[in-house]
Amino acid sequence: MTVSKEELYLLAKNVEWQYKLDEYTDNQLKTILSITEKSQKELTATLSKATITEWSEERTNKLLSEIQTLQTGVKASITEGIADASSLAGSAAYDAHSTILSFSGAATAVVGASMTAETLKSIIVKTPVGGNLLSEWVDKSFTSNLQDKIKKEIAAGLINGDSYRAITKRLSEGFPGTKREIETLTRTYVASVNSQAMQDVYAANSDIIKNVQWRAAMSNRTCLRCAGLDGHKYKVEDHPPIPLHPRCRCVLIPIVDKTSLGLSKSDVQKAARPYSIREGKIVGLGGKGKAIDAGTWAGNYDSWLKSLTPQQQKDFLGPRRLELIQSGNISFEDLVDRRTGRIRTLDELSDYKAKKSEFGDKVKMGMAAKKAEEMSKMALAKSMKESAEKTAAGIAKAAVEKVAENLAIKLADKVAKEMAEKIAKEAAEKAVKDALDLSMKAAAVSTKKGIESSIIASVEQKNY
Ligand SMILES: [Zn+2]
Repeated sequence: MTVSKEELYLLAKNVEWQYKLDEYTDNQLKTILSITEKSQKELTATLSKATITEWSEERTNKLLSEIQTLQTGVKASITEGIADASSLAGSAAYDAHSTILSFSGAATAVVGASMTAETLKSIIVKTPVGGNLLSEWVDKSFTSNLQDKIKKEIAAGLINGDSYRAITKRLSEGFPGTKREIETLTRTYVASVNSQAMQDVYAANSDIIKNVQWRAAMSNRTCLRCAGLDGHKYKVEDHPPIPLHPRCRCVLIPIVDKTSLGLSKSDVQKAARPYSIREGKIVGLGGKGKAIDAGTWAGNYDSWLKSLTPQQQKDFLGPRRLELIQSGNISFEDLVDRRTGRIRTLDELSDYKAKKSEFGDKVKMGMAAKKAEEMSKMALAKSMKESAEKTAAGIAKAAVEKVAENLAIKLADKVAKEMAEKIAKEAAEKAVKDALDLSMKAAAVSTKKGIESSIIASVEQKNY
C-alpha cells in the first residue's frame, strides 16, 4: 500500500511532534517525581523516628494515619504538577497540530484551533478520565501501592518477627511502584490532551477532513494491539479511543486532498515514515531498549514487520501468532478487532479461519436462500402472468364469441329479413306475373272466344 506525499508529511511531522512532547514530558516528570522522592525521604524519617519495639494494631494505625497526613500534601502537589504539565503541553499541542495540518501555513484552507493553558488546566482538573478525576488517580496510585504495602509489610513483619529496620527498608523500596504509576499517569494525561488537541483541530476543519488513518509507531517495541490497527481508515468521529492504552504512540493522520487543503504542488516537501529497532521484545508499557537500527519505510506496519529478521518477527508476534500468519490461517489484519481496537486472543485466532469461512458459508447460504426466494417469486409471478394471460384470452375469446354471436344474430336477422323481403318480393313479382299471365291468358281466351264468336257470327251471318 502506498502513502501519499501529503500523508507522509503529516505522519512525519506528527512523529516529530510526539518526540518533542516526550522530551517535554520527561523534563516535567523530573519535577513531579522529585516530589514523590521527597515524600519517600520524609516517610523513611518518620518511620525511623518511631521507637516501636513491638507491633500492635493501635501503633500500626497511628503510624498509618501519620503517613496519610504526610501524603495528603504530596498528593496535592503531584496532582498540581500533572495538571500543569499536561495543560501546558496541551496548549502547545493545539498550536502544533494546527501548524502541522496547515503544512506550516501553506495549506490555505486549513483553520487553526487554540486553547490557553489556563482553560485547559481547569478542564483537566474537573473532567474525569476513565471514571476518575486526576486527583483520584493520584490518590489511587499512592493508596494502592503504598498503603497496602505498608499494611502487608507490617503484618508480615509481625508474623515473621522481622526487624523493624528490615521492614522500613522494604517500605522504602516500595516507592518505585508509586513512581512508575505517577509517570504513567502523567504520560497518559499528556497523551490524552495531545490527542484531544489533534481531534479538535480536525473537527475545526471538518469540511475538508472526513476520514483519518490509524498510524502506529513503526518500532519492534510497539504493542501488537496498535500495530494491528496500522493503516486502517476511520471516520473522523468514529474510531477506537486514542491513546489506546498508557504510553500508546499512535496517531490519527487525516486523509487529505491537496486541492481541498489549498495546497499547490510544490508545497509538500519530501517526507518519509521513520522506524526504529530496539533491543529486546515488546514492552507493553514502553521502556527504553538500546537502539539497534533506524530508518524510513514507505508502507504499513504489516509490510515493515515482514522485512525484519525471523527472530525479530517472532519476538514481536510471539511463536503462535507468527505460525498462524505464516501458515496462512490468519492475516496480519486479523490480529486486532479493527472496529474496537481489541486484541484477539490466541484461542479466537486458532479457529479464526474456520469461523470466518463458516461465516462466509452462512453468508453464501443466506444469499442462496435469498436467490431461491427470488426465483420462486419470479416463478410465481410468471405463472400468475400466464394464468392472467389465459384468463384474459378466455375472456377475450368469450367476448369474441359473444360479439360473433351477436353479430351472427344480427346478421341472421338481416339475412332472414333480406331473404324474406326477397322471397316476398319474388313472391309478389311472381304473383304479379302470374296474375298478368292469367289475365293475359284470360284475355287471350276471351279474345279467342271473341274471335271465335265473331267468326261464328260472321259465319252465321254468311249463312244468312
Ligand atoms: Zn497505540
